[in-house]
Amino acid sequence: MGEFRYRLEKKTPRTGNGGVTRGASVKEFPASVGVAGVSMRLAPGAMRELHWHANAAEWAYVVSGACRTTIVHPDGSAYVDTFNAGDVWYFPRGYGHSIQGIGPGECHFILIFDNGDFSEDHTFSVTDFLARMPAEAVAQNLGLSAAEVATLPKKEVYFAQGPVPDDASNISASRAHPELVAKHRYPLMAQEPRRVPGGGTQRIVTVDDFPISKTMAGSVIELEVGAMRELHWHPNADEWQYFLEGSAEVGVFLAEGKAVIDQYEAGDIGYAPMGSGHYIRNTGKGVCRVLLGFNNGHYQAIDMSEWIAGTPRDVLKTNLGLTGETVEKLPKGTVFLAKGK
Ligand code: MN
Ligand code: MN
Repeated sequence: MGEFRYRLEKKTPRTGNGGVTRGASVKEFPASVGVAGVSMRLAPGAMRELHWHANAAEWAYVVSGACRTTIVHPDGSAYVDTFNAGDVWYFPRGYGHSIQGIGPGECHFILIFDNGDFSEDHTFSVTDFLARMPAEAVAQNLGLSAAEVATLPKKEVYFAQGPVPDDASNISASRAHPELVAKHRYPLMAQEPRRVPGGGTQRIVTVDDFPISKTMAGSVIELEVGAMRELHWHPNADEWQYFLEGSAEVGVFLAEGKAVIDQYEAGDIGYAPMGSGHYIRNTGKGVCRVLLGFNNGHYQAIDMSEWIAGTPRDVLKTNLGLTGETVEKLPKGTVFLAKGK
């Protein structure tokens, strides 16, 4: 393990009825103080049961397949949504929700939580809740007989295997407009990306376009061969990275003469603490695709090239000890994604 790298997809998973999950909180990945993440897979019909998280909001990106979610709000309103590859969801802290694979094939998604201390200890499941409360109280609450309450699960179910929902219950399964934004759904990959010729693309979702997502923002960047997300930092958020495809080198600068450089492969996660300088460089033979999660609804970044371009040349000459000729070669605008040689 590198200080800012954790091989999430190599972790021994927790498995259950139709579900597989691998998580990394500060316990497994000590650097990730502000964000935790989970890679989860659900077979068709398999459900991550009704639950809530006491200490974190949940932001998710669907890597492949399709799923259906349910969520209830404190005002009693409830939502059912369908998600496909490239879609994002956001569930505020404490709101009860469930996730079910709807096939065909497995649904794989990445969950990001805005608290590195996130853990199953702070996850409250409906079955655990009902099993721990006195049977008489549950019977009174649900209008059931004692005999019926006795048939409820005796402990947390976590994953439950059911049938694939039929179309009638699958409210929005066939979305005529895949780009449609819903209260809890933002189709990130349907977005027209920011493009840098020779460099790659960026797609990003913040609270500005996805109003429910008040505490988190996310992005997918694609780096062409040899290209680099330039040196930059985020003044307002920690960055959590999941490498979807390809290989990369990441450098994290921590001030006081300290930096950590490491190599990443698909399935690895990375972390850049708030304010730390960092870059991501494609070192593979194909496109490098990275999912980025931020624990702030607003996205802020300061790129090295912007800083250089916005600084008088004489300041740069003095500061960097450069000749006038060399200083003129420095960027005069934002680079963002630097092309490979
Ligand atoms: Mn959850
Ligand atoms: Mn960054």
